[in-house]
Amino acid sequence: MVRAYIALGSNLGDRALAIARATAQLADEELSVTRSAPIYQTAPVGPPGQPEYYNTVVEVETTKTPDALLDHVKRLEKALGRTESVRWGPRVIDLDILLYGGDVLRGPRLVVPHPEMHHRAFVLVPLLDLAPELMVPGLGLSVRSLLADLSVAPGEIVALPSA
Ligand code: ADP
Ligand code: MG
Repeated sequence: MVRAYIALGSNLGDRALAIARATAQLADEELSVTRSAPIYQTAPVGPPGQPEYYNTVVEVETTKTPDALLDHVKRLEKALGRTESVRWGPRVIDLDILLYGGDVLRGPRLVVPHPEMHHRAFVLVPLLDLAPELMVPGLGLSVRSLLADLSVAPGEIVALPSA
């Protein structure tokens, strides 16, 4: 059994519903969702004029291999109505594998730890809620120290009232 962390983001349609559905549908015989961070409303990255994102992170325990976990999250994105669109453009749901145990993977399909996570406050803030002292493999720094190195503008990341 491996503990992994998955980032969820949505900025199209019913964002809270997309995140709730994705969290529920992640679970199967080979994966349980053990904890979820609160949902945050965050300023969009990428093309201007997009709606704000809802972002969170979930902790899972799984017997899936990294490749099988990527297949699983890609299938779920499709099932929840994500269509191909411009890079960093609006999307119903984005599921990114942040961490897979202590593994460092640099394959053509899958890079873990997620290559952008250390400079994305919208990932590190919810991850901090779940695992502040976790050391990010390959970087040798904790989630807390990675976040401390970022400058986060006031209002960039706002916790939503819990449902
Ligand atoms: P992005 O998340 O950068 O906005 P996509 O969700 O469309 O873009 O992902 C593009 C590709 O990134 C995926 O098809 C997948 O093969 C690859 N990828 C590499 N590493 C990861 C990871 N850790 N988690 C999710 N996808 C990844
Ligand atoms: Mg993605």
